[in-house]
Amino acid sequence: LTEPFLTAKPILEHIEKHHHQAYFVGGCVRDFLLKRPIGDIDITTSATPDQIQKIFPKVIPVGIEHGTVVVRHEHQSYEVTTFRVDGDYIDKRHPDSVTFIDNIDKDLERRDFTINALAMNIKGEILDLFNGRSDLKAKVIRTVGNGESRFSEDALRIIRALRFSSQLGFKIEDSTFDAMIHVKKEIESLAMERITNEFTKLFSGSYVHLGIHYLQKLEIHQYLPVFREHPELMYNLPKSLQPLKSFGEVIALLHILKPEVSILSWMSAWKCSNKIKQEAIQLAGAYAYFKKNGLDPLLAYRLKEEYYDGFIRLLNSLSLYTIQLQQLINIQEQLPIQKSKDLSINGNDLMALFPNIKGGPWLKQMLIMIEKEVIFGRLQNTEYDIKEWIKWNPPEIN
Ligand code: ATP
Ligand code: MG
Repeated sequence: LTEPFLTAKPILEHIEKHHHQAYFVGGCVRDFLLKRPIGDIDITTSATPDQIQKIFPKVIPVGIEHGTVVVRHEHQSYEVTTFRVDGDYIDKRHPDSVTFIDNIDKDLERRDFTINALAMNIKGEILDLFNGRSDLKAKVIRTVGNGESRFSEDALRIIRALRFSSQLGFKIEDSTFDAMIHVKKEIESLAMERITNEFTKLFSGSYVHLGIHYLQKLEIHQYLPVFREHPELMYNLPKSLQPLKSFGEVIALLHILKPEVSILSWMSAWKCSNKIKQEAIQLAGAYAYFKKNGLDPLLAYRLKEEYYDGFIRLLNSLSLYTIQLQQLINIQEQLPIQKSKDLSINGNDLMALFPNIKGGPWLKQMLIMIEKEVIFGRLQNTEYDIKEWIKWNPPEIN
């Protein structure tokens, strides 16, 4: 075993000491064999959630109804899930019931793809019941068992196949792809949040063009909001598209390609969080500003720093410009102020200067004008200079 499995090893040891079985499972084993960076470590066990809660001091019952608890160990979180089989997915959203079992074979069999159905024990031995390793070697995505029935059980797996091809650069095996085509209509009934989650990963994969290629070939636009009304969007994605790290970047891009669809429509149709919404609005706003004015101090000032690299990815994806993150950072570092609080004058000061005028929108407008002058270096950020400037530019009140 190597890190990060070594750090997690005591969890497996502790479970085994209490006479239950435990394995590392899923994405972490896949990524370990691929020598890719390992994300979360998931553990699968014959112990029930109750038993896990009894034998570990720090357990968070995150998804106890489907058998998952989080064990905290050395300041890390580990999802520990009881071996289980899923009942029917009648509403096509979540399995109706799960049944805990005491044997790992059936647990691996319920997993979506052969490359995700690998387990590893405490000695580093791989349990590979469905030839996942040979599919890893051949770079192939293939369902565990019959494709049509596996995709009918949970149509999200169709989107997951696309996202794994985008993340790993793997081909989708022919009969698996045929099954995706047969079952694709079921995508319509999925909970939107689940789709959005997988789409985010699809657009962020290192092999995003492969994922998009399969997405287009699958022709699922009519089952997805917004694309349904504007199929061309899906087929006209730019050739220079770069992996986009968040869904806010994706929405900003799609909105720029099709301004008729507002960001708010995207947000409500794709059930996005407020955070994603704010990001998309900022990025699209920055892009509109950039097209008119280019990269200038006001853009660096207004765009939140956390969105800088997303903005650069967006520009480069639209292939119009080759701009480096460093250019934006250089401009930002030269800014005389970083936020409006840094101005040497505030609303109260302005009110005091004009005691005969009532407070109102003029205050804010004036502050914005002053801010702009300061940012472009046309006005020094001192109380004296700003007051002098105001004398020449008094508020216009009608
Ligand atoms: P990532 O590195 O992106 O987290 P992952 O393979 O760990 O990839 P998860 O979505 O975290 O993907 O799921 C963990 C594991 O659970 C998968 O590897 C797979 O074995 C199983 N799994 C997840 N979702 C499904 C599903 N819809 N149907 C069947 N198995 C699934
Ligand atoms: Mg995972």
